Parts: sequence; structure tokens; C-alpha cells
Amino acid sequence: MLKKDWKRDIIWGWFHGKCILCLGNASGLHEIIPRSNIPNNWDEWSNRVPLCSVCHDKVQQNPSVWRSKLEQQRDYLMQLYGIDYPLDSSKDTASISKGNGR
Ligand SMILES: [Zn+2]
Repeated sequence: MLKKDWKRDIIWGWFHGKCILCLGNASGLHEIIPRSNIPNNWDEWSNRVPLCSVCHDKVQQNPSVWRSKLEQQRDYLMQLYGIDYPLDSSKDTASISKGNGR
């Protein structure tokens, strides 16, 4: 079964190709939890965020420390941009519903 990385462009577009930490031009998508740890779920929508090469290097030096920071920043920007995670058919989507932001 070939799993094509079709989510990449969509995630990239959400953040306008910007690094979520410094808002400079991102160089690639970073996996918040490395795919070696979650080989079946690494491409979850919520696990991938664009980073520039500088921030990526910083994060790679201490991924566990950066993890919550990345998650916070991801959630903040998604709320700011008004992005909702697409509904994966196999997922329980109850937690994805929108808050009362306006
Ligand atoms: Zn950066």
C-alpha cells in the first residue's frame, strides 16, 4: 500500500509556508513526534508543522523540550488563521469541533 504524502501541500498552505516559530520562510515540515516513534500515525494533520532550517536545528537538538511549544504555537496559529483540521473518516472527530472564537 503506497501512502502518498498528499497532506504535505495542504499543511504547508495553512501556514503560508512560514516557520511557525519565527515566521520566516519554512524549509520543510517537521514532525512533532518523529515518525520513528509513531510509524503508523506520523502523518497525522496535527503532527506536522513547517519550520525554517534554523528553528528546525534548534528543535532537533531537544525535541522533547520543544514539543509542547510547537503544539502551542501550532494551535495558536491555526486559531489565528481560522483553520480546522480536515475530518479523517476513520477518526473520532468530537474533539475537533470549533470553539466559541469570533
Ligand atoms: Zn524559524
